[in-house]
Amino acid sequence: MKIVDLKATTVTVPLEAPLRHANGCHWGRFVRTIVEVETDEGIVGLGEMGGGGESAEAAFHALKSYLTGRDPARLEELRFLICNPTASLYNNRTQMFAAIEFACLDILGQKWGVPVSEILGGRLRDRVPFASYLFFRYADSRTGKGEVRTIEQLVEEVRRLKELYGFTSHKLKGGVFPPEYELECYRSLAIELEWERFRFDPNGVWSTETAIWFGRLVDNMWELRHDYLEDPVFGLNGMRRVREKIRTPLATNTVVVNFEQLAANMLDTAVDVVLLDTTFWGGIRACVKAAGVCETFQLGVAVHSSGELGIQLATMLHLGAVIPNLSFAADAHYHHLTDDVIEGGKLKYENGEIAVPTAPGLGVKLDRDKLAEYRELYQRLGSYPYDQDPLRPGWTPTIPNDRWADPKDTRVPEISF
Ligand SMILES: [Mg+2]
Repeated sequence: MKIVDLKATTVTVPLEAPLRHANGCHWGRFVRTIVEVETDEGIVGLGEMGGGGESAEAAFHALKSYLTGRDPARLEELRFLICNPTASLYNNRTQMFAAIEFACLDILGQKWGVPVSEILGGRLRDRVPFASYLFFRYADSRTGKGEVRTIEQLVEEVRRLKELYGFTSHKLKGGVFPPEYELECYRSLAIELEWERFRFDPNGVWSTETAIWFGRLVDNMWELRHDYLEDPVFGLNGMRRVREKIRTPLATNTVVVNFEQLAANMLDTAVDVVLLDTTFWGGIRACVKAAGVCETFQLGVAVHSSGELGIQLATMLHLGAVIPNLSFAADAHYHHLTDDVIEGGKLKYENGEIAVPTAPGLGVKLDRDKLAEYRELYQRLGSYPYDQDPLRPGWTPTIPNDRWADPKDTRVPEISF
């Protein structure tokens, strides 16, 4: 079997409301590039990458000459072809390779009549648990709904998500408001949902002193079953300093995202839990390999979300299904989306879990009408600046940050749709 064609289509899919984070905002939508790899046997495999637009589509098209005539089963060879470590200094294609790897695994699964999880060693679990992934949100300017800013709104939001999806693990994305305010928010969630599991992620914008202060208070919260504190500061050395001074485990999806950093962390431990992202690491197989290293050194592992539609979510499910040391619920932004581009609509949560697809390949198919609809929406709206807040133009966090958003600010950003 040989690869004969490659297509890339950038789409934008609306979110329930703009998601605020430490470095900016998701402006009410996600932008993703859907990749289709076609073989001479007519099998089409699906991939997905974050971001997009003309430059992403052009970058994928430029890879066509690398892929044409290649066997999609030769994934290691393709890795070196596309991600040559020295060439990558000039042109890092790790995330693009991830999308191509997803598509090739999808092709192989369809050809061999097995789900991707069977290619990766076989399912250890049929369902993957997910955390609630709470964000501070602006209201949607079209409906005036969806705001999460006050403690009352946050508690109401977690109740709503529990009711709808059944989550029992909860992640709060912070780093938006002053740390004292966010601590109160976090504490209120813990009191509301006593003995459920919690994690907090300020996306690396705190000082080490703030992280130690927060971590020590969290260490002593008797009502909190705390999974970990995620990226309280940026950098392995900062994380190591925090880890020396608090008892709560530290997790990261920012400072251990490749094997060099993983090795550095094993030689001089800075984080306890590695959040594996099928895009950041360059594919599902790289994540399985990294999980094996973590298993050897008895570090915790979870599945990271970089803002997925159904194709990437399928990669996260197959990954979650096959790693023995998945000791925490996975993260997904997925429930903040209003729709998807896959057949049958969004994958369903049940009791806080999503079933691992069992159809051959990734187990998801493109809904062509939805793809066209959201491609058109992308063409109309274009990209958005992930690292900008619509109501704080020009603001950027310094590291450590000391210019927080005001939790009393009730404004709603006008974002056109
Ligand atoms: Mg994170």
